[in-house]
Order: sequence, then structure tokens, then C-alpha cells
Amino acid sequence: MATDPPPGTAAVASGFAGEVTYTARVVFPVAGPPLVGGTLTVRGDRVAAVEPRGARTPDVDLGNVALIPGLVNAHTHLDLSGARGLVPPTDAAHFTDWLRGVIAYRRGRTPEQVQTDVRAGLAEALDFGTTLIGDIAADGASWDALAAAPARAVVFRELIGLREGRLLEQVKDHWEWVRRPGTGFARRALSPHAPYSVREMMLMWACRCGVPVTVHWMESPAEVELVGTHAGPFVAFLRDLGVWDEGQLIGGFRRTLAHAGLHAPALLLAHANYQPPDDLFRPNTTVVYCPRTHAAFGHPPHPVADFLARGVRVCLGTDSLASNPDLDPLAEARFVRARRPDLPAETILKMVTLAGAEALGWADETGSLEAGKSADAVAVPLPDRDAADPHELLLADHPGERRTLFRGVWRPGVVAAGFSLRSGDAG
Ligand SMILES: [Zn+2]
Repeated sequence: MATDPPPGTAAVASGFAGEVTYTARVVFPVAGPPLVGGTLTVRGDRVAAVEPRGARTPDVDLGNVALIPGLVNAHTHLDLSGARGLVPPTDAAHFTDWLRGVIAYRRGRTPEQVQTDVRAGLAEALDFGTTLIGDIAADGASWDALAAAPARAVVFRELIGLREGRLLEQVKDHWEWVRRPGTGFARRALSPHAPYSVREMMLMWACRCGVPVTVHWMESPAEVELVGTHAGPFVAFLRDLGVWDEGQLIGGFRRTLAHAGLHAPALLLAHANYQPPDDLFRPNTTVVYCPRTHAAFGHPPHPVADFLARGVRVCLGTDSLASNPDLDPLAEARFVRARRPDLPAETILKMVTLAGAEALGWADETGSLEAGKSADAVAVPLPDRDAADPHELLLADHPGERRTLFRGVWRPGVVAAGFSLRSGDAG
């Protein structure tokens, strides 16, 4: 995709000199209605103004594109990027078979291969216009790559484990990791994996660490069955792993989440495919819907509309390349638009921008085009036709090279050029 900055933007790319006003066919601030022929004025690394057509004379016309906030992917696993096509999603009833495939894949990967996979996945994510990523990684393996990338990140170090003997050791390791300094753009967080793979104590502990927490939640019918009746395919799955312990495993994970979850600054429930929109949800809680992964497993329609009707925040994630065709958040939004006419288009756009930034704790800086926020934006090519609602142009499948502005600078083609390290930005 993008390899060069758009014409006329060299002055911006070469430094934070002065102020530049861009215009596009449609500017989508997300914080307000779309502005046909509107302008985005950037001063240094900040948005100086977002204005309707005619309020200001633009310096650069980006052409037939939508200028939208940088895309937010709130749930991915970059360390599984080498698994594309290797562990095909099963039907919903055989979810544990897919999990077995993922575990086998992971066990066959060396640490060096994992780093290669993380970097390949990150390059793809950046190329699609992602400027904020919530990534889950075993051992926090994606930290170095994300901390050096031209993007914002929340890296959730994954907690997996049901064996009692390893609990203290795990707590110590994760505590040391999570207390290490972040950078100005990458923050540390924790992911107790799922009700079937980690003890309640670890969830409780993670929620008390003062960092965002994400949990895979009510993803499959097997998980519902395990939690409800202590039966189903997960019993054999856990027995085969040597960790089945009915008394300890699943007693009150939901109750624990409801109580301990209150203490986490942010709680992201990934998938929630089978979770009713009940009183589990508090202001700090977000559902991360992964639309194409949800569809790949053939789950029944996602309760996203019910969550939204109850005022529950919903954002989007791609999940990993072990279950998803690519790491493009906008493709997730377009997929939802094509299949869920019950959801307003502006809500879908918000789910891959501002709602994701709110969920990950970055909304003061990014997620919408508003004066004072970081100048993070994507220029997305639009079809030539007209539409009464400009959202329909943006959310229709349409190819073309996207270009990404991150902190006021047009990103170089990250695949072609490798990552430009943000030397001096760490802090
Ligand atoms: Zn996941």
C-alpha cells in the first residue's frame, strides 16, 4: 500500500514546520457529522481545527478520499500472524478443536519466529491505517516491536495457567513486567486469557494491578456449557492438557469479573458472542466484537445491537490471522455494514475509531479528529459515485491505497521501508 506521502505534503513530512490545512471529498471527524469538502488543519503533531468547507483555504487537496481518524484495532494477537490459513476456523460446535490447532501451532514456533510473525503482522496492521492497537501477547512478546512502531499501543501480557504450582511465579513475572516503564505511545496491560484457561484468582489479581485488562469472554457454545454445567467439549480439552480441576476451575468466574472488574481502569471483554446484555457491564467495560472471526466460526448473530441499545460501549477487533483473513479494522467495519443494516453507519465508524480509543484508554489523544488531539488520520479512497449519506461511500468495499497521518506526519510505507524508530520519543 502507501509508499510515498501525498503530493504537497513534503513540508509536513520533513518536520513540524508551521500549519497545513488538508481538504478531502469528505472529512469524518467522528466527534461530529461528516463534512463534505471539509478541512483538517494540522499544527505540529496536533489537530488545530476541523472545519466545514469554505471556512479556510486548504493547502493540500487530498482528492476523492475520506479523511477519517486513525483506525483502532482493539483486539489482535500479532504473535499468531504466521498462522494465516494454517488453522482454519471450525464450526461453532467444534471450537475446542480449533483451540487445539492454535496450541499445536504455538508450540512449534521458536522465539525468533514469533518475533518475525509479530513484525509481519504489525507491518500489515500499520499499512491498513491502524494508529492504535490493543495486542495480546504471550510473555509480552510484541512489546519491543510495538514500542518502536509509528503507532500507539496497549500490549496485554497474556496470563494462561490453571496449575496451582505456577501461580506465584506467574504473578511475580507479570507484576515485574507490568511495572516496567512504558513509552509515550505504548502502555502495558494484562490479559487473563479466558474462563477456561486461567484461575479466578489471576483475574482478580490482574484487575487490581491498575492497568487495562482484557479477557476472552463467552466466545463459544462450549464455553457457555462449561461455565453453566461444568460439562461439554472443554472437559476433554482440559483433561488432555492435564489441567482439569472442576473444584477450582470455573466456580464463579463471572461473579469475580463483575466484582474485581470494577477495579480495572478499563475492562475489555473480547467477543462476548454468547453474553446477554445484562448487569455485567459498567462504565469501564467494553465489548470487543470481532466481526469476521465471529462469522468464520458460524456463530449466531452477534448481540452487538442489544449491547448498544443498553448503552454498552462496543468497539471492533480483527482477532488474529489464525481466524481472520487480514488485520484491517476498516474491513471489519465494512463487513458489519454489509450484514447488519440494523446498525447505524456512524455507529459502525465510531466502533473502529473513537470507541476503540475510549476502550483502550487513549481517547484524550486519538480516536476522533478534534482540535487538540494528536493528528492521527487515514485518507481512504472513495468510489466515484454519489450517496445521500457519505458513510455509505466510506463503508462500501472499495480498493485503493490508503495513506496514514500519524502525529502530523505521513507515515512512510512501512512494508517497503521497515519501521522508522521513534528515537527520542520514548518517555
Ligand atoms: Zn483473541
